[in-house]
Amino acid sequence: MDEARERIGDARARMVTDQLRGRDITNPRVLAAMGAVPRDAFVDDAVRIHAYEDRPLPIGAGQTISQPYIVARMTELLGVHAGDRVLEIGTGSGYQAAILAAMGCVVTTIERHAGLAEEARERLRDLGLDRTVEIRVGDGSVGASDGEPWRGILVAAAAPAVPAALRMQLDPDGGRLVVPVGPRDHQDLIVVTRNGTEFREHSDGPVSFVPLIGEGGFRD
Ligand code: SAH
Repeated sequence: MDEARERIGDARARMVTDQLRGRDITNPRVLAAMGAVPRDAFVDDAVRIHAYEDRPLPIGAGQTISQPYIVARMTELLGVHAGDRVLEIGTGSGYQAAILAAMGCVVTTIERHAGLAEEARERLRDLGLDRTVEIRVGDGSVGASDGEPWRGILVAAAAPAVPAALRMQLDPDGGRLVVPVGPRDHQDLIVVTRNGTEFREHSDGPVSFVPLIGEGGFRD
């Protein structure tokens, strides 16, 4: 391994120790995936040296890749296992989808910006994760009814309210939806768990995401 790659590997290991394990991330499968997927491969050259810092980074088209802790937290809250089928809304760089794929999930992810979707496709192909991740272009705020029921649905953009279509596409046997809900400038991270016709909801705390734009989200 050359020196640069060794340094990057060290930075990633430190990120897992300090920012994830050092806070409240305990799920060993989430920690392993975060330690395995190279976040530096999902950001532009200009910000690559910041790839393992405790903050979101720009990914083009005015969008951002979330802070590592938030990706880990949302993944942990989703409570999914290897083999589970998961829907992600807001592919962005493809990093969150890569984390879910590294955990063995079968992922469908939807992005409204065709350019971002194409770049994400290339990254996942380069990392050999494209066999278990399908990237679609479109409005994910209405979900993907052709793939329901979903074991988990993770929304990586902020919605004004829990999108009704996503709720209904959850697996009735304990499927979970993780979605930031609130006004454009600050939200609560809401976790919805479905059991039959019962939907239990709780907030995991304050977060800040770019808006979900579409039928089940904000109008442009
Ligand atoms: N999960 C991403 C970060 C997502 S940022 C990552 O790991 O990099 C939020 C993304 O949601 C943006 O790329 C934005 O274009 C997308 N988005 C917003 N509204 C959407 C919608 N209705 N359907 C699909 N994607 C949407």
